[in-house]
Amino acid sequence: MSLPLSVPIKLPNGKTYQQPTGLFINNEFVQSKSKKTFATISPSTEEEITQVYEAFEEDVDVAVEAANDAFHSSWSQGDPQIRMKVLFKLSELIEEHAETLAYIEALDNGKSLMCSKGDVALTAAYFRSCAGWTDKIKGSVIESGDTHFNYTRREPIGVCGQIIPWNFPLLMASWKLGPVLATGCTTVLKTAESTPLSALYLATLIKEAGVPAGVVNIVSGFGPSAGAAISSHPKIKKVAFTGSTATGRRIMKAAADSNLKKVTLELGGKSPNIVFDDADVKLTIQHLVTGIFYNTGEVCCAGSRIYVQEGIYDTITSEFRKAAESLKIGDPFKEDTFMGAQASQMQLDKILKYIDIGKKEGASVITGGERLGNKGYFVKPTIFGDVREDHQIVKEEIFGPVVTITKFKTVDEVIKLANNSEYGLAAGVHTTDINKAINVSNKINSGTIWVNTYNDFHPMVPFGGYSQSGIGREMGEEALDNYTQVKAVRIALTK
Ligand code: NAD
Repeated sequence: MSLPLSVPIKLPNGKTYQQPTGLFINNEFVQSKSKKTFATISPSTEEEITQVYEAFEEDVDVAVEAANDAFHSSWSQGDPQIRMKVLFKLSELIEEHAETLAYIEALDNGKSLMCSKGDVALTAAYFRSCAGWTDKIKGSVIESGDTHFNYTRREPIGVCGQIIPWNFPLLMASWKLGPVLATGCTTVLKTAESTPLSALYLATLIKEAGVPAGVVNIVSGFGPSAGAAISSHPKIKKVAFTGSTATGRRIMKAAADSNLKKVTLELGGKSPNIVFDDADVKLTIQHLVTGIFYNTGEVCCAGSRIYVQEGIYDTITSEFRKAAESLKIGDPFKEDTFMGAQASQMQLDKILKYIDIGKKEGASVITGGERLGNKGYFVKPTIFGDVREDHQIVKEEIFGPVVTITKFKTVDEVIKLANNSEYGLAAGVHTTDINKAINVSNKINSGTIWVNTYNDFHPMVPFGGYSQSGIGREMGEEALDNYTQVKAVRIALTK
């Protein structure tokens, strides 16, 4: 018997909801052509939540055709107020369904409700912000003397392919879909294989909001099959990806080898979080904790390398250790849980492997350094001291609640240390001296600098990486640039 296209799931709040399981193509949930399904697992219990249909190349082809037809409808060239309306409506629907969405996300990803509620709020806020952009996409008139009239238009790029990771399944879907809907593009979005559920639920809201059929298509599936079919598809004009640097490289190659589709990548990081002697200790500790332990450290911009100036090093280290040890870890559905489970067995194994490497490299465990319990993928918040710059745990992205802490003396020294990375996604600077904050921010090679805050996002503030952390920006006006292309029209005038 084949899997129904929607199954009832009982959430830990006692409520039961209908979870779509099909591929969302042309505003309908459908079976995949092969009818193959795969399981999604609850990381906090290690039990199967449900099966969902698995997309392969042939399903991606169908979704791309739907997106292509929708692009050649009035959607892309029509009155932007239509797109504005559906984006506003979508943000309202997300707020109405906030509780269900937050529970689905915590169930499927393992993150705490505290985190997933924040994700839902940011998702609604981002779609609302995109609604405001729809009728503000402008070209320009260029003066070149009275022999010609020149103008530019920003036209939607066409059918997009979007591939998202499992750490913020809903929020990453919004960062991808928001600019598509704002600019009049259409898309085929593939969720990560370990977290397909929230985006499928979002699809029901997308339809209810009035997004025309074929504009947004969402498929569940694996990277080497469905993901690769997207990045090499000849009719997809642009691919947007968030995930590991290794996969980003593969996607860029596939884009080049197929039709030279435009590529934006939001990749890994090993972000420095710098504390100067004059920092406010209490506030800084909060931001160090948020920097590395929020979302169980599964954050691309996690502040995973802490550098503390010598005069304040002992105080910060001991207060940070106390704060890490007081964090509530465990059942994601308890209101006061800060850290839920890591997203998958694979991720748990990877983090534990790095903890082991750190110990073997000779770093000292200030706190944590082990799994918590033996059911559910929980890891204790872990701080390593006595690290060297050439240690693997200082250089490589761990993507878990594991941080290194290093003492420094001077501003010049810490700038060198901060920039000693192949990545450049984010950095934190903690100081009460505004001159120091600005001077240091200007010298750090990364796409985002947070001063006296961390992991602090706003829909209008662009986010993206320098160096091997990525190409292009999401959010803000900059995000729209990736989904439009400039047409220049030069008209010769007769006198
Ligand atoms: P990944 O980059 O392989 O997966 C992310 C997405 O890419 C998923 O949807 C996956 O199906 C897809 N994908 C995988 N291979 C593909 C291919 N060949 N073509 C097209 N799409 C493909 O990440 P992962 O394997 O789930 O995790 C590995 C590591 O990546 C993590 O431990 C972490 O360090 C890092 N990561 C970073 C981010 C981030 O936001 N920067 C997010 C997730 C994972």
